Amino acid sequence: MLRVLEEKRKKRLAAEYGETWRPVAGGVRVALVYPNTYALGMSNLGFQTVYHLLNRRDEIHCERVFLPDRADQEELGGREALYHSLESGSRLTSFDILAFSISFENDYIHIVEILKGAGIPPLRRDREYGRDPMVWMGGVAISINPEPVADFADLIFIGEADELLPEVMDRLAGRSLRGSTDFSRFAEAVCRLEGAYFPHAYHFDYDPAGRVTAVRVDRGYPSRVRRRWVEDLDRSPTVSRILTADTELNDMVLIELDRGCGRHCRFCAAGYVYRPPRFRSAAKVLEAVEAGLELSDRIGLVGTAVSDYPGIDGFMAEIRKLGARVSVSSLRADSLSPSLIGALAASGHKTLSLAPEGGSQRIRDVINKGMTDEIILEACGKIFESGILNIKLYFMVGLPFEETEDLEDLVALVRRVKEIQIAAGKREGRIGRITVSLNCFVPKANTPFQWAAMDKRSALSLKMGYIKKTLRKEGNIRVIQDLPKWAIIQGILSRSDRRVSSLLISVADNGGNWVQALRHDGLGHADAPFRVRDDAELFPWETIESGCRRDYLFREYKKSAAGSRTARCPGDLLCGRCGVCEGADSPDEKV
Ligand code: SF4
Repeated sequence: MLRVLEEKRKKRLAAEYGETWRPVAGGVRVALVYPNTYALGMSNLGFQTVYHLLNRRDEIHCERVFLPDRADQEELGGREALYHSLESGSRLTSFDILAFSISFENDYIHIVEILKGAGIPPLRRDREYGRDPMVWMGGVAISINPEPVADFADLIFIGEADELLPEVMDRLAGRSLRGSTDFSRFAEAVCRLEGAYFPHAYHFDYDPAGRVTAVRVDRGYPSRVRRRWVEDLDRSPTVSRILTADTELNDMVLIELDRGCGRHCRFCAAGYVYRPPRFRSAAKVLEAVEAGLELSDRIGLVGTAVSDYPGIDGFMAEIRKLGARVSVSSLRADSLSPSLIGALAASGHKTLSLAPEGGSQRIRDVINKGMTDEIILEACGKIFESGILNIKLYFMVGLPFEETEDLEDLVALVRRVKEIQIAAGKREGRIGRITVSLNCFVPKANTPFQWAAMDKRSALSLKMGYIKKTLRKEGNIRVIQDLPKWAIIQGILSRSDRRVSSLLISVADNGGNWVQALRHDGLGHADAPFRVRDDAELFPWETIESGCRRDYLFREYKKSAAGSRTARCPGDLLCGRCGVCEGADSPDEKV
């Protein structure tokens, strides 16, 4: 290993504290790979949880691998020495299994870069069992649609890893991984576990336009793989075990409060693939906070909507009593109380974020955000009254059925927020700032908008340009935006089939040049995000059973066109509308 990289690796390890790593002589060697930088990977609670699950097993020797830092890549080109494990600096070819933890579609290209860089053929068909490591993949992005990475993976984990991963490891124990016969035996032993997807056993037929016409499944494999989810979160502690100042979140202990959201926002893939909504008990969270405080006084509560947590006010007060400085991953305007804001203000927060997502009542009904202007303005008022005068507002642009008036209403809403902020600033004798974050809408598989078209790059730029130009005239409003180019690449990847692997390889071969690779792509990927899907079209991701029935998703899509709202999940988890909660009666449209 190059000296400069070796020094960097040792420095990084020395800066970590918390759970300790131990080498296991003779164990199955697993490299847990986060296909992005160390700073991002170590801020990812899912990645940390899987590392803990693997690292605590006596028969597993697990090390972490990250995408090399951009500066190192630029300086050292594609040298194999860049691709090594963090703990021992080993080459990736020395591991039995490479297990990728993937949260975002735009990281798919890094999977190819890492495999190629490490001297491992990215495509499954070019690898040899015994000579090359087995490649596993899991994470939220590929639980929504695993097909874009299906040609790279030997085994894909669909859903939450907490339960399936230990079961797969049990089946692996004592097995040899030396050749294709061993792999077949391993696949036979594992393929009946719910959530285990072996893509080699699924074969797709396409029509001349590239749409899926049929899926043929090898004998012995399930026709559809059911998503796995943890019923009782208290049995699955999810907290960050290793801290370091070298991450995005800087020495903060992350603790998962809940999983799944019952609000039915139609754009939100996480809201569908993490159903049903589940809450960790307050006793377990407080236990985790107490343990976390041994490492740091900074506690981050992670959840789909932390302000929806039952009894959040009293709960935050208890955490504050323990001496923690608290942060939260998400707040909803309609469940924001003064005492929750007070706890955040007392923890030193100078800015809070809200996500109205849509600027007008009409578009918020289309996406089922379930929030009026008055609720949003009232929430902003509560934040400013607490003394926090800076606010960040997230909006999406390019939503289905969006019209010019929706963007005009967005501008008007921000102006009204500013009026309330100015009044609060006068009382406080200070000036605050509003940050408007504009994000391109990307339709996702396994959501009601899986049928919808995405806006083209020019339309997205025009819409964001209008909002920026109009709000620029106002003082103390900063408008930031994501880049339509990357949103469109995400749009290509999020609903594509396994043939996209050739495009990803071509991008990696072109040094990351998407424009050139798309120009030479003969499979129509460049146009795919902008096509409205036929009502009855068979989707590549339907090898996966996400839990929500197709007829329910389609009904939600039709309701969105009409701006018709859907009520949130009831507390008893037995409404039967979407199909996730087993044992429920037939769907009740009146709910
Ligand atoms: S079945 Fe009903 S309660 Fe259960 S996740 Fe679906 S909508 Fe929510």
